[in-house]
Amino acid sequence: ALMLSLRITPFGERKRQRLLVARDITKIYHLNVIRRDFVANVSHELRTPLTVIAGFLENLVEAPATPLPHRRPLSLMQHQASRMTSIIDDLLTLSRLEMQERPERLEPIDIPDELTLTLQDAQALSQGRHHFVTEIDEDLLLFGNQPELRSAFSNLIFNAVKHTPEGTEIRVSWKRTPDGPELCVRDRGQGIEPEFLPRLTERFFRVDKARSRESGGTGLGLAIVKHIMNRHDARLLIWSEVGEGTAFTCVFAGNRALTRPLGANDPAP
Ligand code: ADP
Repeated sequence: ALMLSLRITPFGERKRQRLLVARDITKIYHLNVIRRDFVANVSHELRTPLTVIAGFLENLVEAPATPLPHRRPLSLMQHQASRMTSIIDDLLTLSRLEMQERPERLEPIDIPDELTLTLQDAQALSQGRHHFVTEIDEDLLLFGNQPELRSAFSNLIFNAVKHTPEGTEIRVSWKRTPDGPELCVRDRGQGIEPEFLPRLTERFFRVDKARSRESGGTGLGLAIVKHIMNRHDARLLIWSEVGEGTAFTCVFAGNRALTRPLGANDPAP
C-alpha cells in the first residue's frame, strides 16, 4: 500500500490560495516498522539470558561461601545487571506502546487515587528530602488506561524527585481547566537549558548522562510518557527555566473528564 503524508499550506502572491502537498512516506513508514520490530526482538532476546545472569549473581552475592574479596565486584555486577534489566524493560514497554495506536482497554480511572499511591512511592524515594505540595480535585476522574496513566504520572513525579536537589518543593496538581483535565508536576530544581527542551522526549536523551545513570535513570521515561499521552489524545507541555525549575503538564481533551460519583451527566466515552 502507498502511504501519503498530506499537508495544506498557504500559497500564491497574497497567500490566499491553498496548496495540498502530498508526500510519499511509504519507505519511511516501512523502515520505521523494521526498526520497531528489530528493537522489540533484540530486547526480547536479551531479557531471558539477563534474567539467568541476574539470578546467579544474586545467589553468589548472598551465599555465605562466597569469599570476601569477591563480594564487592559481584554486587557491582548485580547492580549493573539490574540497570540493564530496567533498560530492556523500558524498551519493551516502548515497543508495546508502538505496536498499537490506542490502548486496548479504556475505563474510568480514579486519578486522585492513583496520585495518592504514586505520591506515597515518590515520598519513599525522596526519603524526606523534598517538600511535596498537592492540589488535587478529588472528584475529577478520567477515561483512560490505568497502567499507562499510572506509569506516565509516576515517571513525571519520580523525575522531579530524581533530578532536583534536596530541600526543594515539588508541586503536583490535578484539576479542571478550560482545555480539559490537567496534571501538572512542577519542581524547583536547577531547570533545563532551552536548547535541550525539544529533545527531552527522545529515547536515551539525557541532559546529564552521568547524573541520570547515578539516579538509576534509563533515559527512556519521557519517551514513554510522550507515547502514552499521544494514545490518550493528550498533550505534554514542558516549561523550564534555568534556576527556577521545571514543569511538565499533561492536558487531556475535555471529553475524557468524568465527575465523581459517576453519573448520567457524564459524556459518553
Ligand atoms: P531518565 O531516566 O534519565 O530520568 P527521562 O527520559 O525520564 O530519563 O528524562 C530525560 C532527561 O530529562 C533526564 O535525564 C534529565 O536530564 C531531564 N529531566 C527530566 N525531568 C527533569 C526534571 N524534573 N528536572 C530537570 N531535568 C529533568
